[in-house]
Amino acid sequence: MDRFLVRTNKATDPPPAVKKLRRYDESYLQFGFTVTADLRPQCVVCAEVLANDSMKPCKLKRHLETKHAAIKDKPADYFKRKLDGLHQQQASISVHSTVSKQCLEASYVVAKRIAKLGKPHTIAETLVLPAVQDMCRIMLGDSAAAKLGAVPLSNDTVARRISDMSNDIREQLVQFINQSPYYALQLDESTDVAGQAQLLAYVRYLRDKAIEEDVLFCRPLKSHTTGEAVFDVINGFVRENGLAWD
Ligand SMILES: [Zn+2]
Repeated sequence: MDRFLVRTNKATDPPPAVKKLRRYDESYLQFGFTVTADLRPQCVVCAEVLANDSMKPCKLKRHLETKHAAIKDKPADYFKRKLDGLHQQQASISVHSTVSKQCLEASYVVAKRIAKLGKPHTIAETLVLPAVQDMCRIMLGDSAAAKLGAVPLSNDTVARRISDMSNDIREQLVQFINQSPYYALQLDESTDVAGQAQLLAYVRYLRDKAIEEDVLFCRPLKSHTTGEAVFDVINGFVRENGLAWD
């Protein structure tokens, strides 16, 4: 989970170094433009963000004259008020997106607990959420309980979160193994409660000068538990995930 969150929080690759950035000048507000955090001109009327390259009076003026011809001769005060309006809008959007980010994290954390205990996915909507809402209503009040209703915890959502997390963990593991100069496999075969033979594979690999050991996969053995069937299952995993046999 920690690895997963770290990875999700990590921003995508930083943008390549930009040659020379054009600077914003307060006077550009007369053309209806403010500036974004990444130094790009933003129209205070339609909120469109232009490239940093367009940060010059002629380009900004052209936007105003072609897109907002009706207001092109308004006084600076008019654009100042538009700018205030834009800021207010942005503030409410950012509050909203923090809340949905929290909902998303809460949803993942609950799904992780359900997966760890091997409980049915429906337990979140039938028991966990109503119980937490009851406790919140009693301990913290109605508004706190109502807030929790926004956490997505339906049967399907929980199933999707769990498969998201397990896929992500597998991808990370495969990546670590591929970065290691060599890896070793250890196999075990077991029969589950339904009488189905299961093949368990463990992997050891080198990571940051230390030997790591993880469960690689657990897959059912479809046919007999012969050497060939065992190899087919491992080979399937190796091929599907882009691991190298050598
Ligand atoms: Zn505009």
